[in-house]
Amino acid sequence: MYKYLFFIFFATGFQSCYSQQEDNITGDEEKIINQSFTNTNFHDVGNYVSPKGKKVKNIILMIGDGMGTTQVQAGFTANKGQLNIQNCPVTGYAKTSASDNYITDSAAAGTAFACGVKTYNGAIGVDHEGTSVETILESAIRHNMKTGLVATCRITHATPASFIAHQVSRNMYEEIAEDFLKTPIDLFIGGGRENFDNRKDNKNLLNELSSNGYTVVTSTDSLEFVSSGKLAGLIHKGDQPRVSEGRGEMLGIATRKALELLDNENGFFLMIEGSQIDWGGHDNRTDYVVEEMLDFDKAIGQVLEFAAKDEQTLVIITADHETGGLAIINGSTESGTVEGAFSTRGHTSVMVPVYAFGPSSELFQGVYENNQIYHKMITAIGF
Ligand SMILES: [Zn+2]
Repeated sequence: MYKYLFFIFFATGFQSCYSQQEDNITGDEEKIINQSFTNTNFHDVGNYVSPKGKKVKNIILMIGDGMGTTQVQAGFTANKGQLNIQNCPVTGYAKTSASDNYITDSAAAGTAFACGVKTYNGAIGVDHEGTSVETILESAIRHNMKTGLVATCRITHATPASFIAHQVSRNMYEEIAEDFLKTPIDLFIGGGRENFDNRKDNKNLLNELSSNGYTVVTSTDSLEFVSSGKLAGLIHKGDQPRVSEGRGEMLGIATRKALELLDNENGFFLMIEGSQIDWGGHDNRTDYVVEEMLDFDKAIGQVLEFAAKDEQTLVIITADHETGGLAIINGSTESGTVEGAFSTRGHTSVMVPVYAFGPSSELFQGVYENNQIYHKMITAIGF
């Protein structure tokens, strides 16, 4: 009887909150799924020393979608006890709730990072009343910096969209795609090409991107051939596959290209998302979470290597929320085995870790709301 009442509470109490198939914030199952996975694809971890004292010229914000501390622990264990992320000398915790919900989705959390405001679930670059708020990427352009977005999902998906688009709902993929033409971003790489060239209004935004001076690239391999100018990398028609099902080294290649094209004397703002750690959590699959976590950590290694040499780059690595209510109930750093147990198919409310590297990284110590990450970045860059 009590269990039944509990179920009714969940069914009615959370009905109004935003959800969608690939990013549902609420769980619809009570059972706990345990799953053991032994990694065989280990990567080397660098030893990068965080530079101090210089003025911040570049900001790289790396978002592991759905990356709570247990997802980091899963990756750490699976990679035999080492991750690049551990080179960060500063750690903090971010509280993640949305303005209208105890549990956030990626849109409200992305907007908190991008705009500094707490907003409702589903909001893209707008506040809780639906009013557009300038994003840090747009501010960076105003300050003559270069800008870029890299994601392992659609580039029009909630997290990357929050940095460049202003729409009342994350589901407005075609409107979000059009917003990419309103802001002179220098580089974006992700999936979702169909939101640009297979649209209800029959517009072909790829042509418009070309006339605006972008080299439009439709495969990961072709990214290598772009050595200057503005780059629109729409490398998959829809969602991107997971690492082991065809995405391969896409994130590493895109990250290297972004650092190469964006580095300039006026500085840059770059957001890189490991999007599918979240999808592994929604699927309650330990192997999927680990694979995506390690893929993200490899990109973290590239970014920290760049930042350690550059000495004027602030790197922040965090998450929008945790996904799956993952617990690590057994494991071995000898064999790279992780046994995960999931408690929900949705997101959870737990605070997420914040890692920082480079000048002004000390600003990110402590416990704070997720929108403070925006304000700390603005303080560091001095806008
Ligand atoms: Zn999600």
